[in-house]
Amino acid sequence: MISIDLIQSTAEVLMDKAAIEIPDDYLTGLKDAASTEDGDLSSFVLQAMLDNYKAAKEDRRAMCGDTGCPRWYVKMGNDATVEGGPVALESALRQATANATNGVPLRPNRVHPLWRTDHDNNVGIGAPEIEYGFEPAVAGEDKADWIDLITVHKGGLFGTDYRMLFPSDGIEGIKRFYLDSLVAFGKRGLACQPAIIGIGLGGSKDTCMVLGKRAACLRTVGNMNSDPRIAELEAEFKELGNSIGMGAMGFVGKNMVIDCNIEVGYCHTGGMQMSVHAFCLSSRRAVARLYADGRVEYRTDPDWFTPYQRRETVLWEPMLEAAE
Ligand code: SF4
Repeated sequence: MISIDLIQSTAEVLMDKAAIEIPDDYLTGLKDAASTEDGDLSSFVLQAMLDNYKAAKEDRRAMCGDTGCPRWYVKMGNDATVEGGPVALESALRQATANATNGVPLRPNRVHPLWRTDHDNNVGIGAPEIEYGFEPAVAGEDKADWIDLITVHKGGLFGTDYRMLFPSDGIEGIKRFYLDSLVAFGKRGLACQPAIIGIGLGGSKDTCMVLGKRAACLRTVGNMNSDPRIAELEAEFKELGNSIGMGAMGFVGKNMVIDCNIEVGYCHTGGMQMSVHAFCLSSRRAVARLYADGRVEYRTDPDWFTPYQRRETVLWEPMLEAAE
């Protein structure tokens, strides 16, 4: 059984790491962008951000004054049990969020939508969001008696959009909405670029938004979709996003997209839902795997999209003989 004290103390470390240490994959992507950028202001911003990340780590201070919205993804191995159960787990994550907001410190962004009530700790009604996934034991693993805690401090909140497309819009329609969104994000300052862009395709309206946000926040730079045709689109969309003449912070340049990740879900035959999400210049995420024997392993790759999470295997096949 995984101890609840271990969960809370690890969650506090994760909040600290996410706020201060930019993940290596994003940093490498940013350095690549800086090495190819020739727009004056875009180059200046990229270099300033690289200096900023270095200083944040050395001084143990948050890399951006805007915390974004801290959220949690919890992936439970199929054999994991938690002391006190899921309710205790949620309570520990809420407490860790409040403690870290005051400890790191982080800007308390969360307020009531109508009364603007602010508890100064990023905790409130429905905040922070906590989402769950489950995972079977993999080959070579006796049992999956671990949980992964993933925190994301999601900035670029206004750099998000949704459109109901139709099958006849095709790939060209997807590209049009993608480019419309990037131009709007850049021109109106809706998210600090360059960003990791996540695209959700299909599902229903709510799951399409979830897929797109997870595509932006839970995949690393350079990671490709397991479907080679979608992976091809991801590469094409990255190039497309970097060819509209905008770079860092919407200035003239050619590095607006550090990576483009696409996730899909089966949808109604009449529609083709699409969402676009920007995981901003401060792409903050931190991950830990906790085991029942007390071990904790930290990493920055959420490794969320396993074959099981994508439900790639269709377990039921039509009775072909009966249909004949
Ligand atoms: S969009 Fe990201 S980098 Fe820009 S202010 Fe918000 S959290 Fe900071």
